[in-house]
Amino acid sequence: AIFVGLPLEEIFFEGFMLLNVNLLGGYSCYKIEYSARRTFLESHILNQRAERDGLTGLYNRRAFDEYMEKIWRQSRRDNEPVTIMLIDIDHFKPYNDMYGHQAGDDALKNVASVIAGSVQRPLDIAARYGGEEFALVLYGTSEEYVRELPELLRQEILGLGTVHEAATHTKFLSVSIGVAIVYPDSGRSLTGAIQMADEALYEAKNSGRNKCCCYQGIIPDHSLHSVLVVDDEEALLITVTKMLSRLGYDEKSARNGQEAIDHFSIHHERIDTVLLDVVMPGMSTQEILKTIKKLRPGTRVLLASGLRIDEIEKDLIKESDGFLSKPFIMSDLSQAIARN
Ligand code: GH3
Ligand code: MG
Ligand code: MG
Repeated sequence: AIFVGLPLEEIFFEGFMLLNVNLLGGYSCYKIEYSARRTFLESHILNQRAERDGLTGLYNRRAFDEYMEKIWRQSRRDNEPVTIMLIDIDHFKPYNDMYGHQAGDDALKNVASVIAGSVQRPLDIAARYGGEEFALVLYGTSEEYVRELPELLRQEILGLGTVHEAATHTKFLSVSIGVAIVYPDSGRSLTGAIQMADEALYEAKNSGRNKCCCYQGIIPDHSLHSVLVVDDEEALLITVTKMLSRLGYDEKSARNGQEAIDHFSIHHERIDTVLLDVVMPGMSTQEILKTIKKLRPGTRVLLASGLRIDEIEKDLIKESDGFLSKPFIMSDLSQAIARN
């Protein structure tokens, strides 16, 4: 309608100009869009490169730490559990020594690709956590899946059939897996949660390797449960009270019988459970136990010893509320104390 009344050549001229302007505009837009996309893709690739481990293609440690912070915060907002798995290759140094560094690298890649295969949901991540150690984090999964996966993973990696003559039992390359299932209300920090997986891994290694060990972190509020550890061995006292504090207990310690009794008679402290070393200089264990039960009848007294249970006086066992063998394993300690 705008051309009505104009001479023919003017219509052509205006039309031609309009077309030109449109083409020019279109082209510029295309160029701008193209370069924007290119920049986006390039930076994405660069980012990926900076986030990925060169050998295995999994996230590197730095990226893992960053993602983990985000996942942790999200789990608290959504009230969802987080499962942290630390996967460490068994006897990998001897493997390198026997088969060479290149074979070592190949083995690392194969193990990594099995681990990567377990990442199926957007918030799950797999990373190379250290040299021959990997981390797999699962977000808010059903407990059944979380409990089955580590064992499946262990079997699948063993099933790669990587011959390892220097491995103790298997003769194949194997991994040990430490698992921590942590609920947001467990009162644990992110560092505490990773530490828990690390302790589980340590236990898996200690109990023979090629194993999974799982710590469950739905820790009820233990802060109102006081545990008194009585032991004349300073180093043990320190480790045990550390373990207890990590489990959320209110922990106290005494170096001998008299100090133990003072907690009740002089300081009038709340103590629910006593972990009592069987062999100590000074006051006899029997006497300590009797005095505590007299002062505070409801107190649970668990005996602790490096001796076997059948090597300990029967009467003493009878009067106590349980027995724990030393050195303690975190999960045993936690179970013994939680049992009422
Ligand atoms: P454990 O069963 O207690 O875990 O024993 P281990 O020998 O696996 O553990 P250790 O920490 O003593 O040795 C780890 C070895 O992993 C040492 C190192 O040579 C090897 N390693 C770490 N990163 C790489 C890598 O990128 N390539 C190769 N080929 N080897 C690696
Ligand atoms: Mg190792
Ligand atoms: Mg290691």
